[in-house]
Amino acid sequence: MTTLLIKNIHTLVTMDAARRELRHAAIFIRDNVIEQVGTLEAMPPMAADEVLDLGDRHIVLPGLVNTHHHFFQTLTRVIPAAQDCSLFNWLETLYPLWSKLNAESIHVSAQMAAAELMLSGCTTASDHLYLFPNDCTLDAEIAAIAEMGLRFHASRGSMSVGVSKGGLPPDALVEQESDILKDSQRLIEQYHDNARHGMLRITLAPCSPFSVSPDLLRESAAMARAYPGVRLHTHLAENKADVAYSLNKFGLIPGDFAESVGWLGEDVWHAHCVQLSDDSIGKFARTGTGVAHCPCSNMRLASGIAPIRKMLDRGVPVGLGVDGSASNDGSNLLQEARMAFLLARVRDCDATAMTAREILEVATLGGARVLGRDDIGAIAPGMSADFIAVDIDRHSFAGAHHDLVAALVFCSIDSVDYSFVNGKKVVDRGQLTAVDLTALVQKHNRIARQLVNSQS
Ligand code: ZN
Repeated sequence: MTTLLIKNIHTLVTMDAARRELRHAAIFIRDNVIEQVGTLEAMPPMAADEVLDLGDRHIVLPGLVNTHHHFFQTLTRVIPAAQDCSLFNWLETLYPLWSKLNAESIHVSAQMAAAELMLSGCTTASDHLYLFPNDCTLDAEIAAIAEMGLRFHASRGSMSVGVSKGGLPPDALVEQESDILKDSQRLIEQYHDNARHGMLRITLAPCSPFSVSPDLLRESAAMARAYPGVRLHTHLAENKADVAYSLNKFGLIPGDFAESVGWLGEDVWHAHCVQLSDDSIGKFARTGTGVAHCPCSNMRLASGIAPIRKMLDRGVPVGLGVDGSASNDGSNLLQEARMAFLLARVRDCDATAMTAREILEVATLGGARVLGRDDIGAIAPGMSADFIAVDIDRHSFAGAHHDLVAALVFCSIDSVDYSFVNGKKVVDRGQLTAVDLTALVQKHNRIARQLVNSQS
């Protein structure tokens, strides 16, 4: 057993049941679990194996949770032909490039995305890998993220309906549904850890209604529900063309289509939901179906602004996602929170439509709920030791010490100084502890160049 004391915290945002914000605070951790939280004066004197003295100049908060991403897309950011596309032609432009992916590029791109997420405050991420050309496997991604020390929800994505059957992806990128289900079961049985504080869970995630069959959605749901804690994830109602496809192909709006295949429930979360109808929002609320809100991607692809104020008011679980790196084109979760906060105000032309503290709650507790976890998202006894610290003396906080918690969102804070995941330090004075970032960037850029140049 090892113990860790974080002391002299200037401001501690707990996100506990009372949403306490403490001055001059401390956190005591045993192994990977938070044991005590309080003001330093109120806590009994205690010895710890390791002490981190934050010198009364850091704000500490629970690690942020990213609920939607496609790590492999870091290799294809800002491709000129895809810069000014909306969703469907953006996908059609990039599918041929993605068909060149291999296990090495999956590994390196996953570490690159994780690096950007972790440096911007993310301690738990979900990723959605839905194409498996050449020797690509979800195993390659899982191994890469384990090296980084990030808490991980790996989604076994899939595509099974190609162009010849009325779907969007090229036929060469789709898999047989029997192979998808067989690999899904293998991954669950090999990796899924549903224990409290588990570092790796598996999600089943057929890619979207326009790239898989209703049967695969039904069968994936049945398989996931046979294993405790295996959740379901897909894209839904991303833009108006997505709604039109659903009406045209299935005769149902996306929310009703999801219901028809058993994809509403507390164990399901959908990415985007920009064009979700009021009636569907009501169904999401009644069933506890979650939403991954990805504001930068929705702006970048001109999809619209998801009605998250309305969703939150009606009790829909909402978390934040940076979405894939080819439609953001970043993985900065602190900046995503700021964008979600600003955009909620723009959508309703209402400066009270979202507060800074509300969006921080969406980014922490909201994401935890969407991923079905009650062990992350707050700094309280019994929770996983996942938290981040930001130096308040940095230039972007200057003049904003009147309300440091709100300043995390109002000001342009884009990185953290410390991050702990499961009690382990993964960012130390602004640097990742697991990898040499410069070497990783160089390797990543070499592979990205090869990927783009190899296209005929
Ligand atoms: Zn996506």
